[in-house]
Amino acid sequence: MPGSLPFEAVTQDFNYACDRLKVRDEIRELVRTPDRELRVEVPVRMDNGGLKVFIGYRVQHNSARGPYKGGIRYHPEADLGEVRALASLMTWKTALMGLPFGGSKGGIQCDPTVMSQRELQELTRRFTRAISSIIGPDRDIPAPDMGTGAQTMAWMMSAYSEEHGYSPAVVTGKPVEIGGSVGREEATGRGVSIIIGAASKDLGMSLQNSEVAIQGFGNVGSWTAKFLSQMGCKIIAISDVKGGIYNSRGIDINALLKHAGEAGTVVGFPGCDRVSNEELLALKCDMLVPAALGSVIDGSNADRIHAKLVVEAANHPVTPAAYEILKQRNIQSIPDLLANAGGVTVSYFEWVQNIQRFPWDMGRVNLELQEIMLKAYQNVYSRVILEKITFRESAFLIAVERVVRAVELEGLPQ
Ligand code: NAD
Repeated sequence: MPGSLPFEAVTQDFNYACDRLKVRDEIRELVRTPDRELRVEVPVRMDNGGLKVFIGYRVQHNSARGPYKGGIRYHPEADLGEVRALASLMTWKTALMGLPFGGSKGGIQCDPTVMSQRELQELTRRFTRAISSIIGPDRDIPAPDMGTGAQTMAWMMSAYSEEHGYSPAVVTGKPVEIGGSVGREEATGRGVSIIIGAASKDLGMSLQNSEVAIQGFGNVGSWTAKFLSQMGCKIIAISDVKGGIYNSRGIDINALLKHAGEAGTVVGFPGCDRVSNEELLALKCDMLVPAALGSVIDGSNADRIHAKLVVEAANHPVTPAAYEILKQRNIQSIPDLLANAGGVTVSYFEWVQNIQRFPWDMGRVNLELQEIMLKAYQNVYSRVILEKITFRESAFLIAVERVVRAVELEGLPQ
């Protein structure tokens, strides 16, 4: 099922890296399993007067390299397995990027699209109080994910600060007016475009007029589309939950943003043919950028992918079975832990600015983001060439090596 992500899927990449790095079994077990999993009941008085009990999770995977860091997802299908998988992915992502964080993730099983602002605020404040003993600027720093946003983070910061004193650094992704960082909103899309710029050079692909299909036109998809079209790419197809649009001559992204803002969907944008999400994934193009749900490219459709390069802007959009098929078919893919790490990188900048009480301007944010993204890319690409492995294999080798080293340096139980 698209969207769901079992822990085993992420563990497969981890196992590959451990085998190759010859990590001892006892350390492998220690690093693979999460440090802590908290399940909390969150009762909320709904607008209709009834009491509803929601279930929330916070999974802290590993903190050997720094405080836990990871988003909070509000989704009807958020469950412990998925939150656990995403928490471990954060451990590898922060390690690969060289950020001084570990990995965590949270989630509440709810449908935020049918809840009022009052209900959402109540849910968020109660959830924050329920997990407040394990989060904090030096413990675990939540951020937005699917179904949550800057407003959710403002409520979390407020609820935490009521108990612990003014603590802007407890969450990232806040509104700029109360300590958020400029450039955070577009950071993930900007990071995707920086990685595509670097990879296209190394893979001998020209960006000018290269044909790109993007699944998802939310935060990540829309900013990625905007930056790539500024870089000269031709965006030939875009979709969202309601369907997709196609134009072989290229789509005007600024006009599409206006249309989607008014219509609530990309569907119906003038001058384009309609395509389904499944058809978009199978389009013949230079680059395919899944930027919506996880597991959208799986064993059933991987042999229909006709892009030269798949760039994982969403978290885990390619299942392990699909990854093997793409690899056999010589279709390169840039893994999520590198491609979409711009968001957590600017989250790190936000945390630094909050701790120092010293805000940066946009120029500095973008410059430092570019530097960190390109450094991580170069580390990955060097190993791709040197060891004749894929981008995914290289990224996991670097990340797992760093985390294992930190765990060993901390000292194992004697
Ligand atoms: P978003 O909620 O802003 O946008 C999601 C987009 O996906 C929307 O256009 C929505 O219509 C579309 N979508 C939803 N269900 C779909 C379906 N069944 N088929 C096709 N499209 C569908 O979310 P986002 O912040 O853009 O996140 C997208 C992905 O990127 C997620 O996997 C998220 O975990 C990952 N990600 C986001 C960030 C970030 O900074 N926002 C950072 C790293 C990774």
